[in-house]
Amino acid sequence: MLDFQSLLLAAALSGACLSVTMLVIWTATRQSRYFLTASMGLALLAMHVVAFWRYGIEPRPWLGALTLALLPTGFSLILIAAAQFYGRSEVTRQAPLAVGLSILSTTFLMVVGLDGAAFMAEYLWSTILLVWIGWIFWQNRAEFPALIVLMSTLFGICSVSFALCGIVLLVDGRWVLGGAPDNWAERINIIISVACLTALGALPMTMHNLRAAARHRSEALTDALTGLRNRRALVEDYPKKAFGEQMAVVMFDLDHFKNTNDVHGHSTGDDVLRRFAEVMSGSLRAGDSAFRLGGEEFALVIARVEGNYVEATARRILVDFAAEEIVTPAGPLRCTVSAGVAFGKPGGVTLSDMLTRADRALYEAKRAGRNRVAVDGWIAGPVHRPARRA
Ligand code: GH3
Ligand code: MG
Ligand code: MG
Repeated sequence: MLDFQSLLLAAALSGACLSVTMLVIWTATRQSRYFLTASMGLALLAMHVVAFWRYGIEPRPWLGALTLALLPTGFSLILIAAAQFYGRSEVTRQAPLAVGLSILSTTFLMVVGLDGAAFMAEYLWSTILLVWIGWIFWQNRAEFPALIVLMSTLFGICSVSFALCGIVLLVDGRWVLGGAPDNWAERINIIISVACLTALGALPMTMHNLRAAARHRSEALTDALTGLRNRRALVEDYPKKAFGEQMAVVMFDLDHFKNTNDVHGHSTGDDVLRRFAEVMSGSLRAGDSAFRLGGEEFALVIARVEGNYVEATARRILVDFAAEEIVTPAGPLRCTVSAGVAFGKPGGVTLSDMLTRADRALYEAKRAGRNRVAVDGWIAGPVHRPARRA
């Protein structure tokens, strides 16, 4: 078996390597400050191990006090890193208080000669900080359940191993040690720390990458101008023959929108697009979804066709949008939109089929004079005559 010195060396080395790794990652993703905080925390933990080793050879009170100060300070930085990862600013304020109390108590006990009691206090504080870190991850387990269960378990195991070190000293009545503690609990603790360090380093990196991937995916499926889901999202949401007889698609196309851009400018055109998206989103029933297909074309997927709900919804959107006033330097602007409806069929049809038929109906609505709804060849009359049109 490895001797205690070798185990300490392994712990210091793996802590230092992990600290450097986190620092390098932080230089590549500066906005992820938790990597920098964790890197500093790990560096302090590595320093604690070295100081602990030196204290075993040269048991001076100042070295003991330093050894005991480094451990909770390192853990508190790991705690702050976890809080930064989850945006828990209150923990960032509470952690220094816990460390301050910890350093005060251990330094006091060390100075009065009760170095064993000082180590017991240190192990108590370490246990509290490790449980606290594990608890923060556990509270946020919904984001990555499997990873967080593993993470919290590792912090739990680590905290138990630190608690054991304190309990062994307490049970043996070692209030005064005259050097670094060296017993079976210390050995188990150092082995567990080395084993957990690797996993505790790899897991946050994985979580960071998964979170970045989820953010990029969400951005790739969202239209930046209106905040609606985009065509790619529509295609992903409705694969194969997803459109049964209970479903419908309404396609919207703003009327004379090129003219709006030409007369009022592109930025006003953007305002019009955003306003239409708001009107559309405001008309959604649970289960319905709104998409921007591109340009001035939008689609509404209705999940449950009941009575004339689809036509009524399309018409309400037309009326509400036509009543909207967009502020421009040239005065208030009103715009209109046309809509084409396609219904699903028994057995299901593809999205492409639905969009083709909705587009055909939309074309009929345009031909019939715009600002109206067309459903499979049937065209509803004008729903609103705008006061002014660009
Ligand atoms: P119709 O009533 O027949 O639909 O005529 P229209 O002018 O609306 O149709 P057309 O396809 O000729 O013009 C669409 C315009 O939409 C042209 C393009 O410049 C404009 N457009 C596309 N995307 C955007 C955008 O993101 N912002 C703005 N402001 N304009 C856009
Ligand atoms: Mg168009
Ligand atoms: Mg248009």
